[in-house]
Amino acid sequence: MRKATGRAPRTHDDAAEFSVSIAQIAKAPGSRRHIHFFGELDGLEVSGSRVPVGDQIEVDVVLESVSGGILVTGTVKTRYEGICRRCLEPAGHELLLHLQELCTENPTDEETYPLGHDLLDLAPMVHDACILSLPLAPLCDEGCQGICSVCGANRNFEQCRCEVERDPRWSALNLLYGGGTTGREDDTPVTNE
Ligand SMILES: [Zn+2]
Ligand SMILES: [Zn+2]
Repeated sequence: MRKATGRAPRTHDDAAEFSVSIAQIAKAPGSRRHIHFFGELDGLEVSGSRVPVGDQIEVDVVLESVSGGILVTGTVKTRYEGICRRCLEPAGHELLLHLQELCTENPTDEETYPLGHDLLDLAPMVHDACILSLPLAPLCDEGCQGICSVCGANRNFEQCRCEVERDPRWSALNLLYGGGTTGREDDTPVTNE
């Protein structure tokens, strides 16, 4: 996974949960360690949504000692909150993210994460995964009907009459702009021969 740019500084003191011991498995190539914990990270926010401050993020990963480093594979579970881009009501959903990241002692490219001697800090990769998954323009629901541009009614909750009154008057225009299909077959394009 590409790293997110503009990594936010960590200000939360309890982020120590994200540092896990790799002393045992680092000595035995091929060995694994399963880690499951809940932790809190600050700064998980993009312009349209955020992980609520103080929320516990669930991290469930397997660390595997591979040649050249530690491979981290597993899931991150959290949720986000924001404002629906169509109806402007609160929007929020669960986020289930899949991690597969390689950590090496001397990261040489953008794709790997640094490895400590006895500790591996999972916070940077969890942070990046969240930032890259947070929606910039969330929806309260995929089928959100949005707000009526005429009267401002939230069409998820009320059926305003604007649509009904507008339909007959605009039907001709709708046809012109492809809003209807009747008669389209007859509109054979003029060809230059
Ligand atoms: Zn909505
Ligand atoms: Zn309306």
